Amino acid sequence: MHTITLNNGVEMPLLGFGTYQVTDAAECERSVTAALQTGYRLLDTAAAYGNEEAVGRAIRQSGVTRAELFVTTKLWIRDTSYEGAKRAFETSLRKLGLDYLDLYLLHWPFNDVYGAWRALEELYKQGRIRAIGVSNFLPERLLDLLLHHDVVPAVNQIETHPQYQRPAVHEFLRQQGVQHQAWAPFGQGKINVFENEVLRAIAHKHQKTVAQVVLRWLTQRGIAVIPKSVHPERIAENFQVFDFELSAADLQAIAALDTNQSALFDQLDPVQVQRLHSF
Ligand code: NAD
Repeated sequence: MHTITLNNGVEMPLLGFGTYQVTDAAECERSVTAALQTGYRLLDTAAAYGNEEAVGRAIRQSGVTRAELFVTTKLWIRDTSYEGAKRAFETSLRKLGLDYLDLYLLHWPFNDVYGAWRALEELYKQGRIRAIGVSNFLPERLLDLLLHHDVVPAVNQIETHPQYQRPAVHEFLRQQGVQHQAWAPFGQGKINVFENEVLRAIAHKHQKTVAQVVLRWLTQRGIAVIPKSVHPERIAENFQVFDFELSAADLQAIAALDTNQSALFDQLDPVQVQRLHSF
């Protein structure tokens, strides 16, 4: 298991398993079970995914001990306030069937982020969460949060893939000691990543798949990642990424694919932010 050490000393697997859009309970249970059997130990869910109970059932049936697992869930916007966070944390724990979380993230930088962060700090100091962090925070929001609170977020989980690489955000996070974790490493399959000629040529050269090259491109540079699939063969494929090294030329060729455009969500667009609030 390849891990990284977060800013509070907690070890987090570099590669985990995502569960967004796996809303069917049986399918969620099956895919999390397949992931745990494959060897994944980090599971990423969220209150908003509606699948915490199914993730919890798969954990209980897996026989994997709690100490081996790293479970992340996220606080939804509606509950992003001091009282809301305290309540939503208990609900997530109950749904997951756990008595502590490894990582709890503010899902988006909206609503009463400051009240919510104080609640997370308290839960963290009480030992009920091993690490607290954020998601989708742009540098100025993150800086504001960390300058005015005790606990520096351990993680910022952000959209990151070959079309939207975020080098400046990555560098900022590195300087602040906040771990970059990539969501949508394949752009949710919406950016033709698997047909990209540059990635296909690199994959061919290493006798790997494009998915494996993308995951290696992230992990080799210390970026944590949580790919999602519901197909056991892809779940296994996405886990076999530590047995090859991309060359400096490979990394340079992939860097040239960056269009600096989100493929999925523009958080500076009020129309999209409004839509997110009604999710
Ligand atoms: P992703 O980029 O992981 O894409 C998943 C899709 O890629 C699959 O549905 C499938 O179509 C395809 N795929 C996966 N493995 C493949 C393979 N080996 N070969 C071919 N196709 C393959 O997108 P995602 O699920 O949105 O992101 C990963 C995880 O990140 C989520 O499941 C979730 O846990 C997390 N996430 C977090 C946020 C956030 O706001 N914090 C937002 C979105 C996702």
